[in-house]
Amino acid sequence: MAKGPFLADLMLMKLGRWLRLAGEDVANPEGCIEDADLIVKARVEGRVLLTRDKALLARCKKGGADCLLILSSDLDDQLAQMVDLGLDLRLDPQRCTLCNAPLEKGGDRWICTGCGKAYWQGSHWVGIDERMARIRDRI
Ligand SMILES: [Zn+2]
Repeated sequence: MAKGPFLADLMLMKLGRWLRLAGEDVANPEGCIEDADLIVKARVEGRVLLTRDKALLARCKKGGADCLLILSSDLDDQLAQMVDLGLDLRLDPQRCTLCNAPLEKGGDRWICTGCGKAYWQGSHWVGIDERMARIRDRI
């Protein structure tokens, strides 16, 4: 079951950004230098670590942290795997795609409460929505 909150490792930062676009809480691995740091962060914050590293998966299990092994290096395949595991992949901006802080709605835009980045519904929005729909339809 793909149920957050999540913690993306360095190799999966892009997947993390897309999951945030779908409203998921996905922490960045900032400050985590060793695998052990990631495992502690996942355990302390109650997050599921997303990784493509089988050795890290094994270390997570030993260290008592939840971990989900992402099988593909392709973003669409990665998202399809998450959908297959129960993720509701729909554009639902609640988190900053960069820093994961909550967004605040103001007029026709959203402002990140962490880094101040502004989001609004532009033409790229339609592209994201369509790509998500295509991935959902694959399952
Ligand atoms: Zn931000």
